[in-house]
Amino acid sequence: MPSRRKFLYTSAAGLAGLAAVPLAGAAALPQSLPPLSPATRPLVISTWDAGLNANRGAWKILGAGGYALDAVEAGVMVTEAEQSCCVGLGANPDRDGIVTLDACIMDDKFGCGSVAALERIRHPISVARRVMERTPHVLLVGPGAQQFAVAQGFPLEPQKLSADAEKAYREWLKNSQYRPVINVENSGTKPVPVGPAGGPNNHDTIAMLALDAQGRLSGSCTTSGMGFKLRGRVGDSPIIGAGLFVDPAVGAAAATGQGEDVIRMAGSHTVVELMRQGRSPQAACQEAVARIAAIKGAAARDIQVAFIAVSRRGEVGAYALQKGFSYALSTTETPRLVNSAYLLK
Ligand code: ASP
Repeated sequence: MPSRRKFLYTSAAGLAGLAAVPLAGAAALPQSLPPLSPATRPLVISTWDAGLNANRGAWKILGAGGYALDAVEAGVMVTEAEQSCCVGLGANPDRDGIVTLDACIMDDKFGCGSVAALERIRHPISVARRVMERTPHVLLVGPGAQQFAVAQGFPLEPQKLSADAEKAYREWLKNSQYRPVINVENSGTKPVPVGPAGGPNNHDTIAMLALDAQGRLSGSCTTSGMGFKLRGRVGDSPIIGAGLFVDPAVGAAAATGQGEDVIRMAGSHTVVELMRQGRSPQAACQEAVARIAAIKGAAARDIQVAFIAVSRRGEVGAYALQKGFSYALSTTETPRLVNSAYLLK
């Protein structure tokens, strides 16, 4: 915690109803990355350093002139297959020791599909795509989602924790407290470090947005959610409008961080609507983060939330509540990791 806090009262029109809530920091509005020139494409942006490998996967499709939807599926499948604390079957389990996965995907025609609390399936993003393409529905959950996946030919994997997750879970069981560690995603430590109060709990997500050579936008998002969450808990990541939103006439946005706080203000949809009103992707992400900070007040210091966004013209932006969020950006086959601007100083 900083020894000194600067507070400001936002006067942004969109925050009129929250104007009495003090916001920490935010006087300077750093832009960590200048907007790309309009019509820069193809491009792909994704959350955290895991996004580097994911972008490489997506670029194989984008660089060959392929469809953004195929790219965002293939890209995050790379992360789902990697051993990670927080995405895919190798991730940390819920508090009952079971890995449950959430994912969603959205194309350039308002097509969308998602799965939540899915167990024993290696690629939830692909199941989400099947929900979009082969059912009249948007969201399938729990046993029904798994039944659908199996009927679609996805193999049922063993119900077994990875070695890292097993170790982290055993540590967590020592006192079973829920205490997220912000930005643990980028710690590079495996298993995920145990917080001071005994909670190795963390959250992480790979969210990806792509604009292909033909100007088609798509997005994807996949996660195991918070480690050691209550059984049945679903975060923002599979919720269209919260964890991900794509409007082909405007742009796309996706979220990572404390899902409950993204859901309560319809985060990604809010970012896209702000872009529709004329904000750049960066400014839209920043305003959405500021709303969360205003809603949370002093408790904002205990969470991390970040958004990434792309306009349909190929401008990109990102903004986080706190220091430590980075994202991977590719406009060539070589991705670069960018430290995001953030609100709380
Ligand atoms: N947003 C995800 C969730 O709340 C986790 C994260 O992105 O860190 O489930």
